[in-house]
Amino acid sequence: MQKKRPARIDVDDLSTWTPYKQQKCKVCKALCCTMPVEVKLRDLVRMGAISEFEAGEPVKMLVKKLKKDGVVERYSTKNQVFTLARFANGDCLYLEGTDRQCRIYENRPDTCRNHPLVGPRPGFCPFEKRD
Ligand code: SF4
Repeated sequence: MQKKRPARIDVDDLSTWTPYKQQKCKVCKALCCTMPVEVKLRDLVRMGAISEFEAGEPVKMLVKKLKKDGVVERYSTKNQVFTLARFANGDCLYLEGTDRQCRIYENRPDTCRNHPLVGPRPGFCPFEKRD
């Protein structure tokens, strides 16, 4: 017997996620881009948020600059990771509103490159078809 699909995908409820297939991304609402994205310094350089030179500055100054620029919302001293800022609706700041595409796709952070093979439910993602 085939398993029934959940009626509604809830990003925070892993039981509603479905098996990942790359071709699904073309028609997806990109709900994965509403999840908190942790990034490292090397990601921020690749993304063009800071220069190589700035990456060598004291982290306290960087956090201040990146928060002021609206790129990150917090920094974990313990794990040395930044969390990217999101809009009020939860969308990542790099997510294009209308077509739900990443504006920095070629230079996106490793977390996004590795999703959903690494993450809370490897091999599954919060797929929902675009309207
Ligand atoms: S950086 Fe791009 S791929 Fe990553 S969450 Fe933001 S919009 Fe999505």
